Amino acid sequence: MAKNDANWGVDTRLAHGGNDPRDFHGFVNPPVVHASTVLYPNAGAMASRAQKYTYGTRGTPTTDALASAIDALEGSAGTIVVPSGLAAVTIPLLAFAAAGDHVLIVDSVYHPTRHFADTMLTRLGVEIEYYDPRIGAGIAALMKPNTRIVFTESPASNTFELQDIPAIAKAARARGAVVMMDNTWATPLYFKPLDHGVDISIHAATKYPAGHSDVLLGTVSANETHWKQLHEGFVTLGCCSGPDDVYQVLRGLRTMGVRLEHHRKSALDIAGWLEGQPGVAQVLHPALPSHPDHALWKRDFSGSSGVFSIVLAGGGQKEQHAFLDALKLFGLGYSWGGYESLAVAVFLGDRTVAKGPYAGPLIRLQIGLETVEDLKADLLEGLKAAASA
Ligand SMILES: *Cc1c(COP(=O)(O)O)cnc(C)c1O
Repeated sequence: MAKNDANWGVDTRLAHGGNDPRDFHGFVNPPVVHASTVLYPNAGAMASRAQKYTYGTRGTPTTDALASAIDALEGSAGTIVVPSGLAAVTIPLLAFAAAGDHVLIVDSVYHPTRHFADTMLTRLGVEIEYYDPRIGAGIAALMKPNTRIVFTESPASNTFELQDIPAIAKAARARGAVVMMDNTWATPLYFKPLDHGVDISIHAATKYPAGHSDVLLGTVSANETHWKQLHEGFVTLGCCSGPDDVYQVLRGLRTMGVRLEHHRKSALDIAGWLEGQPGVAQVLHPALPSHPDHALWKRDFSGSSGVFSIVLAGGGQKEQHAFLDALKLFGLGYSWGGYESLAVAVFLGDRTVAKGPYAGPLIRLQIGLETVEDLKADLLEGLKAAASA
């Protein structure tokens, strides 16, 4: 029996959502169930399929605990747990798109999402169109009779434009399209997609929920209207996740609130400080008053996470690489949401609409849990190296 209470505050949901200790001898955490086969008491039970658990791919007490904890955060009717954040993007797209459909995707989307749309979805006969992240209610003009899905991500991957999700969702729903949102940046703690008109909320749980750069997992949560079809797609594809990874993410969720608050504070401090540094043309962080979409962020979001980008003042790849190579605390590597700071060069070559112009090369920073002054000192070394490149 899941132990969720609609009246609980978000920190209580993080601490107690999902499993009820009384269901398993009082142990505080749920069992890690390693399973393919589930036994039935008799042939009749097997024929009726009425038993709660029937086979490992279809769910276990471990996956139920995480899904139920996520439902409590998202306000969703159901959540599927899948092997990566990318699978959390591809599975709902496959569950809802059919040959002949038109799918609108934000141009500033996470690059592998675009790759999936341009290759596999296109091959399956789905027409893909990219739209400006700042389109807002103007998306109505792009809707066609066969527009089946509007895929959003806000803020934008790497460039952090904000989308007017309520306006987009309203226009999409009026034409009967399913609204999906990759909400990995904000997590349900800082933005609850379903409260803003989104039908399907997507998370790379690899990032903040896992929190330690050692687990890959994704979650997809749907409202009542779309849950059945999402779940059917999930079961059909057989994209279930390993119990140890699922358990690690539930474990991470218990401390996500305090970690995220630390990421939020440190990143905002560093972003504001970077705005005043010579060699920095622009800081792309939606919680900064200087951000062009700051008002939208303030209207819809209750917090900001630890990932943002900076634009160097002029130069090109030489300056960008000099900056990155001078860093000692910031690791050079993909992903984010772990305890350690990371930096990557931003690639905008795939964009058709949201490509700038920017004054110089972009670098994306993930601010970890280290001492802020140490991170600033490291970034100063990067800026010095870029200036003398
Ligand atoms: C990282 C990320 C993903 C993919 O997650 P993986 O677990 O690495 O596959 C999807 N969307 C966004 C916005 C991400 O940042």
